[in-house]
Amino acid sequence: MAQDIRDTVILGTGCAGLTAAIYAARANLKPLVLEGHEPGGQLSITTLVENFPGWPEGIQGPDLIEKMKLQATRFGADIQMGHLHSVDFSKRPLTLYLSNKEAIHTRTLIIASGASARWLGLPSEQALIGHGVSSCATCDGFFFSGKEIAVVGGGDSAMEEALFLTRFATKVSVIHRREQFRSSRIMLDRAMAHDKIKFLTNTAVEEVLGVEKKEVTGLRLRNTATQDESVLPVSAMFLGIGHIPNAGMFKGLIDLDADGYIKTTDQVLTKVPGVFACGDVQDRRYRQAITAAGSGCMAALEVEKYLEEHGH
Ligand code: NAP
Repeated sequence: MAQDIRDTVILGTGCAGLTAAIYAARANLKPLVLEGHEPGGQLSITTLVENFPGWPEGIQGPDLIEKMKLQATRFGADIQMGHLHSVDFSKRPLTLYLSNKEAIHTRTLIIASGASARWLGLPSEQALIGHGVSSCATCDGFFFSGKEIAVVGGGDSAMEEALFLTRFATKVSVIHRREQFRSSRIMLDRAMAHDKIKFLTNTAVEEVLGVEKKEVTGLRLRNTATQDESVLPVSAMFLGIGHIPNAGMFKGLIDLDADGYIKTTDQVLTKVPGVFACGDVQDRRYRQAITAAGSGCMAALEVEKYLEEHGH
């Protein structure tokens, strides 16, 4: 029996993957969409999304994802749970091997596996995600208007989040584990000059307080130089300690930058013909739902073009 060959497989069910699925499905490509261990991507762990065009009252992140899934399946996308274990790009069709040993053959692949926020890894932090602990200031900052909040990190993301959060917070405490900052001078100077931003250096977060109340009430901190402990009362903790692109399985097969993001040309092309990348796995700059959706659309259009040129 001839092997079953897909026209396209989309890896990931975040904004980028599902937008690619809608476009590919409407192009009659019957995409197979693989949903991994973070279904729905970062939107599914946020609350109210107020900056996605078309939702003037805002929409809950998980609802937005659910609607995108419905839209994709309505046009024939096939969404399946599956964890990608490895790939073979050395011959055509491309072969994807899942953790359950299933092999999938496909003419094209859209990688939309996203990036996962880096967390501190504290149990109290994990328990309070969505209840005052967030990795996205632009998504959740508004909910803490008039409150004191903390930002963890010493890079550009942390400075950017802290500056953004001054729009809402009465005070922003930037907590950084060292004395030296990784952030660019200009961003650091801007944050340091802001009268609402205070810095706590040589400081580690030991525990997020408020688990029993299901809302952040403060942070238990440790001075890494003196080991002294203290409590900082805040209503929210934003993580700005970086993201980890989910592209490790493609190392050596397509080009990744020094931090592991997929390098693309013309927005979504990788160096392997027929393999495209979109969304946060290749975007370290914008990282917005709408930009991820836009690049998912581009990837699907590129797949159509590729299949027209190389045959279905
Ligand atoms: P980053 O530059 O890697 O900085 C991460 C920060 O988080 C570092 O200060 C690091 O501390 C700290 N950190 C990491 N793991 C930690 C942990 N487990 N506990 C406590 N602290 C931890 O990441 P980023 O700020 O997301 O920036 C990534 C890239 O995007 C950079 O190239 C940056 O310039 C760029 N970016 C640019 C802009 C802009 O220009 N507007 C905005 C955002 C990002 P250590 O310093 O001790 O390692």
